[in-house]
Amino acid sequence: MELRELGRTGLKLSSVGFGASPLGNVYGSVSEQDAYASVRLAFQSGINFFDTSPYYGSTLSEEVLGKALKALNVPRSEYIVATKCGRYGDGFDFSAERVTKSIEESLERLQLDYVDILQCHDIEFGSLDQIVNETIPALQKLKESGKTRFIGITGLPLGIFTYVLDRVPPGTLDVILSYCHHSVNDSTLEDLVPYLKSKGVGIISASPMAMGLFTEAGPPEWHPASPELKSACKAAATYCKEKGKNISKLALQYSLLNKEISSVLVGMRSIEQVEENVATARELAASGIDEEALSEVGAILKPVKNQSWPSGIQQS
Ligand code: NAD
Repeated sequence: MELRELGRTGLKLSSVGFGASPLGNVYGSVSEQDAYASVRLAFQSGINFFDTSPYYGSTLSEEVLGKALKALNVPRSEYIVATKCGRYGDGFDFSAERVTKSIEESLERLQLDYVDILQCHDIEFGSLDQIVNETIPALQKLKESGKTRFIGITGLPLGIFTYVLDRVPPGTLDVILSYCHHSVNDSTLEDLVPYLKSKGVGIISASPMAMGLFTEAGPPEWHPASPELKSACKAAATYCKEKGKNISKLALQYSLLNKEISSVLVGMRSIEQVEENVATARELAASGIDEEALSEVGAILKPVKNQSWPSGIQQS
């Protein structure tokens, strides 16, 4: 598995990262056995980056990931763990007090002494000025205390990243995590890459399958896309299936193309999905992307190109 440097952190992340939200049962129930087996196979296949949050399954994902990582029985330095703070099963709280307590709780659930990355989760749901003036300074203290090695922010509207990065001193934030903006239907993150590089932050992109839109099984009930976007993505999946191709594979390959993006986080819930996604990354490295399928799928998705959905209370 290819390793890519994350900004100025010195961390080298596997190009495919393990998104652990499915371990919180957010895409349907996953047994602990399947969860452990998926994490083990991912690690054995060269995936070294695991992302979770106290929000996923109201702490379940952190708990299950913690047990699965412990069961690997390998030195802590061999895997990279990111978790988040500020978003919880019962709502948002980006206060310094809450996020400072939150990391202690996350470390306990993850059975770790430190995480590699701690991120404010979905900041568009809070006041961005509070994030700048209160939350990030609290995270900096946690970094100084060694509870996290690096800090970052996550969210959907891309404007939140420029708003915050323009208001904090250079070098304050180590990483940003964007989702659903670097896949076959929406490539808007690409435009922000030069700016993010100029700010020296590492870039993680999540949800290459657009949270299930680019799977043969289709998205979960709670998916926020418009009916128009859902139906275009379904048409793209059907096209691929009819041609004996796989939409999830094409979507992941597309997301992996930009090497300025250090890791593409894919939610995985079974050893079959881990096997498929690892094989997809290897095939891309060996033979490149399926240009014909990419072009056909691009044509099907053209009417909904870069269409997103509202998220949070910011107007970015
Ligand atoms: P995703 O686009 O990775 O899609 C996940 C869905 O695709 C799941 O249903 C999964 O079972 C399925 N899947 C995975 N591999 C497949 C394959 N080969 N074939 C068919 N289906 C497959 O979306 P996601 O899980 O929401 O995002 C990935 C990760 O990124 C999350 O788990 C989380 O760690 C992170 N994330 C963070 C944020 C944030 O911080 N705001 C937002 C979204 C995602």
